Amino acid sequence: MKRLTALQVYGYLPKKNCAKCGEDTCMAFAIKLLEREKKPADCPEFGPGELEKLVEATTPPVRDVVMGGGKSALTLGGEEVMYRHELRFFNPTALMLDVSDLMDDKEIKSRVDLVNNFEFERIGEKLRLDGISIRAASGDAGKFKKAVEIVAREFKGPLVLCSFSPEVLQAGAEAVKGRRPLLYAANAKNWEKMLAIAKEFDCPLAVHSMDLSELGTIAGNISATGFKNLVLDPGIEPNGAGLARTLDNLTQLRKAALHRVEEIRYPLMGSTIPVWQSSKDETQAALYESNLVAMLLDRFLSLIVFHSTEAWSFLTSVVLKQNIYTDPRVEPSTEPKLYEINSPDENSPVFITSNFALTYFNVAGDLENMKFPCYLLVVDTEGLAVTVALAADKLNPSAIKKALKDNKVAEKVKHKKLILPGVLARISGAIEDATGWEVLIGPQDSSMIGSFLKDNWK
Ligand code: SF4
Repeated sequence: MKRLTALQVYGYLPKKNCAKCGEDTCMAFAIKLLEREKKPADCPEFGPGELEKLVEATTPPVRDVVMGGGKSALTLGGEEVMYRHELRFFNPTALMLDVSDLMDDKEIKSRVDLVNNFEFERIGEKLRLDGISIRAASGDAGKFKKAVEIVAREFKGPLVLCSFSPEVLQAGAEAVKGRRPLLYAANAKNWEKMLAIAKEFDCPLAVHSMDLSELGTIAGNISATGFKNLVLDPGIEPNGAGLARTLDNLTQLRKAALHRVEEIRYPLMGSTIPVWQSSKDETQAALYESNLVAMLLDRFLSLIVFHSTEAWSFLTSVVLKQNIYTDPRVEPSTEPKLYEINSPDENSPVFITSNFALTYFNVAGDLENMKFPCYLLVVDTEGLAVTVALAADKLNPSAIKKALKDNKVAEKVKHKKLILPGVLARISGAIEDATGWEVLIGPQDSSMIGSFLKDNWK
């Protein structure tokens, strides 16, 4: 599908250039709309029916569905492309930890604590789990309601409530009225009752069927009533030919959504619970689950329910998710400046690196762990890594000279020695000539800095 251009979006706007939307011109507003930095409703100047036309024109092929509310609202879907390099993906997959109402209170509480407390910092971003999915494995409305209440008391983030019984699901929804959990799931037998519950509690609704044409029919029936807050679950077959069928189904659904097939253009979800139901070995199941989640992240799922509480199992998922959902048009970068690490003084060494975020956080982390006071001068390489910046002539003698001057490094230390990343060895002479500083060639890998300093820095 071709994306609207800014000029086409501009065609839907009132063209008053009144700046009431916070942008100086309607064209600037059109560009911000395309980048999802503004919403159509941010312009108050539409005449009757005009806002609806713009909303329809700018709604992404995969509709966006919001679950939860307030600060913990989570947007699912809203994507426009098959592959991230075609544009970017906008709304990261929600990773939800499974809780069953057959677990005792202590186990439920420990799962809630895990979601509340898990945090892993990578490239300057704090990675977390997104929410909790509560499964009515007992089939008992009272038990399910109690489990939902325990979770809701301790956890304020997004929730998924799972049961194919309308009575059981209704009991859970009543326990978290106003929190807009995703209700799972409508199927061929129960969809009218499930739709009534979703409308009563103003919640998004998941639709499940292993048969794609049935899935489309149920979603189409619900959409025809005007209810568009749907998420589709085509089911996960975790093994052998079933896995291939699953990945194929997910690909077909995404393709159909991008072609705006009306009953299909909703976010996709899936659960790894079938892995646990077919395995007796918990370690093997956790290992298999992390591989399966990686595949599902790659195959367009907007929400994944997983079961393992082993960090080694789900850590790969949160890191892969971060990689997939960063904007490929923008190099992840850090602010170019002089960083002080471990309280340096006038005798401390000065290291040079690029402002590619991954390089910076690796080098800074190694220096911090070494507990050696030092300066790290991060040169503006437009977010390129050291080797690439060298090849692109962004990390060159004049850039280093400018960084030294801009950050007044000569006033911070009483020596004139720079430690370069090992790959800059071939331009070390030119750097000495340009800057007047003596150059030491550091290691290729920042994890070797400790032994380098021992041998080379008095
Ligand atoms: S408020 Fe509307 S009419 Fe005014 S500049 Fe913004 S987009 Fe244009």
